[in-house]
Amino acid sequence: MSEGASTLLAAAGLRATPQRTAIVGELVREPNDVTAQELHDRLRARGGSAPGLATVYRTLTRLAEAGVVDALTHHAGELCYRVCGDDHHHHFVCSRCHRVVEIGDCRIDAWLDDLAGRHGFDVTGHRVELEGVCAGCR
Ligand SMILES: [Zn+2]
Ligand SMILES: [Zn+2]
Ligand SMILES: [Zn+2]
Repeated sequence: MSEGASTLLAAAGLRATPQRTAIVGELVREPNDVTAQELHDRLRARGGSAPGLATVYRTLTRLAEAGVVDALTHHAGELCYRVCGDDHHHHFVCSRCHRVVEIGDCRIDAWLDDLAGRHGFDVTGHRVELEGVCAGCR
């Protein structure tokens, strides 16, 4: 999580323009997750020549496609973005706010191996998003 904006941009094969650096710098500061619109609002609130909403969307989409940031779906109709750790993990997400807890302790493999054997699947990966309401929203 201490990775700098330029490192993340490079990992996605994106040139570190001032606008992209500002976008990723703002995203890295967020411990939970944010939508493109929210990130755009924050950048505007900082003043100066903030990147346009389309640039924010495009940059986040490319970072997510490259697997550099995670895109989460706990708010209907909009994606939320987060800079996560590199290791395999899942997310506990709050359906009311943007709280995200990264869960590194994955124990799904044994169950998955059993299922895969029975159904003749060669499992190449899995994704699990755990939904709930966080302590602050309850
Ligand atoms: Zn993640
Ligand atoms: Zn919450
Ligand atoms: Zn897992």
